[in-house]
Amino acid sequence: DGNIKESYCDVLVIGAGPAGLMAANWLAVQGLGASVRIIDKRNDKIFNGQADGLQCRTLEILQSFGLAEDIWRQSNRMIEIRFWNPGPDGQLQRTGRIPDTIPGISRWQQCVLHQGRIEKAFLDSIAKHSNNKLSVERAVLPETLTVDESAIDDAKAYPIQVEVRKLSEEEATPTQMGKSIPNGLFRSSLAPDDSPTAASNAHVEPGSRERIHAKYVIGCDGAHSWTRRQMGSKMEGDQTSFIWGVLDAVPITDFPDVRNRCAIHSAESGSMMIIPREDGLVRFYIQVSELNKGVDRYNITPEMILKTAKAIIAPYKLDIGEGDLDWWTAYVIGQRTAEKFSLHDRVFIAGDACHTHSPKAGQGMNTSMQDTYNLTWKIASVVKGVSPRSILPTYEMERKQIAQDLITFDHKFSRLFSGKPAKDEADAAGISMSEFQRAFEAGNRFASGLSVNYQRSLLTVKPEGSSQTAVEGGTVVSHSEVEAPADGVISDAGLSAESAGETRIELGKRFNTAQVVCHATALPYELADRIVSDGRWRVVYFCGDIRNAECKNEMQCLGDYLVGQLLPMFTPKDQDPDSVVEVLTVSATPRAENEMQDYHEALRPSTTRHHRATDDGTYNFSPDYHKIFVDDDTYHEGHGQAYEKYGVAKDRGTLVVIRPDGYVSLLIEARQYEQLGEFFKKVLQPPSEHLTHQHTRLRREQAK
Ligand code: FAD
Repeated sequence: DGNIKESYCDVLVIGAGPAGLMAANWLAVQGLGASVRIIDKRNDKIFNGQADGLQCRTLEILQSFGLAEDIWRQSNRMIEIRFWNPGPDGQLQRTGRIPDTIPGISRWQQCVLHQGRIEKAFLDSIAKHSNNKLSVERAVLPETLTVDESAIDDAKAYPIQVEVRKLSEEEATPTQMGKSIPNGLFRSSLAPDDSPTAASNAHVEPGSRERIHAKYVIGCDGAHSWTRRQMGSKMEGDQTSFIWGVLDAVPITDFPDVRNRCAIHSAESGSMMIIPREDGLVRFYIQVSELNKGVDRYNITPEMILKTAKAIIAPYKLDIGEGDLDWWTAYVIGQRTAEKFSLHDRVFIAGDACHTHSPKAGQGMNTSMQDTYNLTWKIASVVKGVSPRSILPTYEMERKQIAQDLITFDHKFSRLFSGKPAKDEADAAGISMSEFQRAFEAGNRFASGLSVNYQRSLLTVKPEGSSQTAVEGGTVVSHSEVEAPADGVISDAGLSAESAGETRIELGKRFNTAQVVCHATALPYELADRIVSDGRWRVVYFCGDIRNAECKNEMQCLGDYLVGQLLPMFTPKDQDPDSVVEVLTVSATPRAENEMQDYHEALRPSTTRHHRATDDGTYNFSPDYHKIFVDDDTYHEGHGQAYEKYGVAKDRGTLVVIRPDGYVSLLIEARQYEQLGEFFKKVLQPPSEHLTHQHTRLRREQAK
C-alpha cells in the first residue's frame, strides 16, 4: 500500500490524559523514550476543569519521579473536612469536622490542582527524560488494531498493527457539553508557562495515514475507550441516573466554610460538595438529577447548577460574579469496570478506560495514573528483556481488584451522599448523618490510595489465602495474614505486634518512608527519596547493629552472596552492579561508631563499580555514596527512629524486596538471604536475554 507509511515502535500509548502521560513518563524515565509513541485525538492538552484531587499515594509516586514538590507548591492543600446538615429546626448547621488526610498516614496530604497543570508537569518531564525524542502526537486517530496471535510470545516481534489517521484541526477540537469549544475558551486559568503548544507532528498533513507496528499498546483513551472496544472488553456494572454538575468559580458568599472541603446535606434541596482550590477558586459538585428528573444533560446550563447550589446552601448566599466562572460541566456517571484489562498481555487498557464512577472521592485521575504506574514498569522491563513476560498478567490481577473496590466504595458512598438526611432516629428511609460521617472517615483511608494491598503473585510473596483488599460496608479492610507464613517469610504480625500503625512494612503494600542519615555525608534523607522510580528493583537491608557479632556475620554472608551470586545472575557484565537490583542498607549502628569500610563491599559505593566506557568514549565514574544509611540523630532534623517506625529488629538483619513501583514483594530475615535468588529468578531474566542496554546510559545522563 503506497499511501500508508509503515513504522515500528516498542510501545504505543493511545491517549494523553493522566493515565497515558504517566505511562509515557515512566517509559521515558527508563530510557525508552526514543522507541515509544504517544498519540491523542485532541489537538491540545486540557487547560482547566476535569479532575483536580491528588491523594497521598499519587503524591508519593510523583515525588519518586521528582515531580511532587512543584505540584505541591502550586496546589491547595486540603486540611479539614466539615459536615453541614439540617439541625432539629431544619436549618443548615455545621455538625462535625475531621482531618482531610488521616494524620501520619503519609508525608503528603491530599491537595488539589487542576488536571491541566498535572498534565503539564508530565509533558515537561517526558521531554527532559527523552531528550525531546518523545512528545505527544496530537490530532491522531487510531482506526484499526490487529494482533498477530502467532507472534505474541516472541520477544523480538511486533505483533500489533495500529493504523492511524491525522485529523484536521476541526476534527481534533475537543467538545464540551456536546458542542465544540472555540480555541481560547476555557483557558482562563492558564499559568504563565502554560500556553498552547504546537504538537511535534503539526507538519503532518491531515488525512495522511500510518501503520504503526508495536510490541505493546497501552490504551489510555478514557471512558469511551476505542482500544477497549477493539479488545472486545465489555463494561460491567450500571449507568447511574445521577447527573453531576460542576462549577469552578471564585464565589461571592457569606458561607463561613467556603475555604474548607465541605459535605453539605440540605433538608429538601439535595447535597453538595465544596472543594477549595488554587488561585482563590472553589469547586462545587452538585447532584442535579435529584432535582431535575428527566433533564437531558446537554440542556443543563451553569445557571441551573448555580440555582440548585443556592437552594442547598441557603440561608447563606452564593453568587458568581461576571467572568468569575472558570469552568463548568454536567455529566452522567456509570459505576462500571471493564471485564478484561488486557488482550494476550500485548494490548492493555488503563484509567477511565477500565473504570468509571462518581467524582466524589476524587479518585478518577489518581486511580488512572496508578494503573499505568503499575503497568508500565512491567512492560518496560519485558521490552528490555530484563523480566519475562510472565510478570504481565499481574497487571490485570492487581488493578482489576482495585477498580472493583473503587466501584463498591463509590456505590456505598453515593447512596449516603445522595440520600435525604434522616429527620430523626426513627426516620428509617433517611440517611443517618453520623453514619455518613463515619463512612467518610473510613473512606478517607481508601481514598488516600494507601490501603492498596496487592494480592499474592510471583511479584508478591505472601502466604496462601492472604491479603485481598475488600470493601465492607464502605470500609476497606485488608484481610491480614491468617495462615502460618512460609519458612523464613516474616508475617506482618511477626515483625512488630505493638506498632500496628501505617508505617510497618507490609507485603503487598507500598514501602513507607522514614528519615535516615547517609553514612557518607551525614545528610538526613527520607528513605523513599532514595527509592526513586527508575525501573530498578531494590533490596533494603536492615542490618541491625553490626557491632553485634551475629549481625556482622550475617552481613558477611549476605554480602558474599550478593557479589558472588545474586547480582551477577541478573546484571550484564558491562553494567553497574546496581543497575538491575540496588541494595540499600539501613544500619542501627550509630554513625560515629564505625566507618563505611566496616560494611561489606557489596553494600558500599564505588569500589565494586566497573569503570566502563560510555558510547561517546568518555569514562563514567560516578560512585553513588547514597548506599548506606543509619538510623541516627541529626544536627538539624532530629532522629528518624526508622527501626521503630518500620518495626524491625536491631539484633538481627531483615531484608525487604521492593518492586520498581515501590510495593513490598518479599520480607525475610537476613539469614534467609538465599530466598532472594529464588524470588528474583521468577521475575528477572539472565543478562543473555536482555535486548538493549542503552537505558542505563540514559539513566545516568538523566541523573546528572
Ligand atoms: P482521560 O483524561 O479521559 O484521557 C483520555 C485521553 O484519550 C484524552 O486526551 C482523549 O482525547 C484521548 N482519546 C480518547 N479517545 C481517543 C481515541 N480514540 N484516540 C486517541 N485518543 C483518544 N474527575 C474528577 O475527579 N472530578 C471532576 O470534576 C471530573 N470532571 C470531569 C469532567 C469531564 C468532562 C471529564 C471527561 C472527566 C472528568 N473527570 C473528573 C474524570 C477525570 O478527568 C478522569 O478520571 C481522568 O482524567 C482519567 O484519566 P485518563 O487518562 O484515564 O482519561
